[in-house]
Amino acid sequence: GEAAELEALQHADVARLLPVPGAESDKYRRGVVGVAAGSARYPGAAVLAVAGALRGGAGAVRYVGPAGDAVIARFPETLVSERGPRRAGRVQAWVVGPGAGDDAGTVAEVLAVEVPVLIDADGLRLADRDAVRARTAATLMTPHAGEAAALLGVAREEVEGARLASARELAARYGATVLLKGSTTVVAGADGGPVRVNPTGTSWLATAGSGDVLSGLAGSLLASGLSALDAGSAAAYLHGLAGRFAADGAPAGAHDVAEAIPRAWRDVG
Ligand code: AMP
Ligand code: MG
Repeated sequence: GEAAELEALQHADVARLLPVPGAESDKYRRGVVGVAAGSARYPGAAVLAVAGALRGGAGAVRYVGPAGDAVIARFPETLVSERGPRRAGRVQAWVVGPGAGDDAGTVAEVLAVEVPVLIDADGLRLADRDAVRARTAATLMTPHAGEAAALLGVAREEVEGARLASARELAARYGATVLLKGSTTVVAGADGGPVRVNPTGTSWLATAGSGDVLSGLAGSLLASGLSALDAGSAAAYLHGLAGRFAADGAPAGAHDVAEAIPRAWRDVG
């Protein structure tokens, strides 16, 4: 029945997932996360995705795209590449799509790379379904209800009214793990199995750029070696806690949520 098809994410389970660098580790062994995001119109999406990625456990964040100057001004530790994703250098997982506008070429290029890929926002609209299905490495899609509805060709209300079924259906259609965002975020694995439900969300997260932070965070966990299901679950859990800490009863911006991730991590770990 329905109950057996659900798993509530719990503190101790998430704690076990969080990567901790060993004594012999270095930045490459911790994983490099690539962020292909932002556009002339939406440079901030790139900055926020990088802000999340820097706090997700990867040893380095590599950025490709038109917002390199804005990213580097805010986060000097970012490796900014002038080349496209295929020639950007070592990357263990990619995040593509936040604020990407109409750059379908970059989305296609990232999907063709044989490492795990997280697709969000504009990337979801631009990604070719057959190209996603043909991938051999993991794919994690992170739509909100509106984006999921567009992908499924149904009304947004239909997704809101059937969140579990919608996430499962998208996962089956794309052969991807699907993290469906919203008041209750759910994560459906690419191969079926129980859907994970995140209990930490807060409506304070309903703020511009909040999803971009989640994308970077989840991508960083993917680059650290977590499966798409675990990376999505742990990211949603930490992101919800970070939202609570950042807001603490008063409104906060998405960059505040990113800055609260270390506190959420300590709280879990
Ligand atoms: P996006 O729509 O891409 O900016 O992502 C919004 C983020 O905020 C996602 O992580 C959502 O799960 C979260 N969020 C939005 N609205 C709510 C809400 N009412 N309650 C809890 N989380 C929310
Ligand atoms: Mg979004």
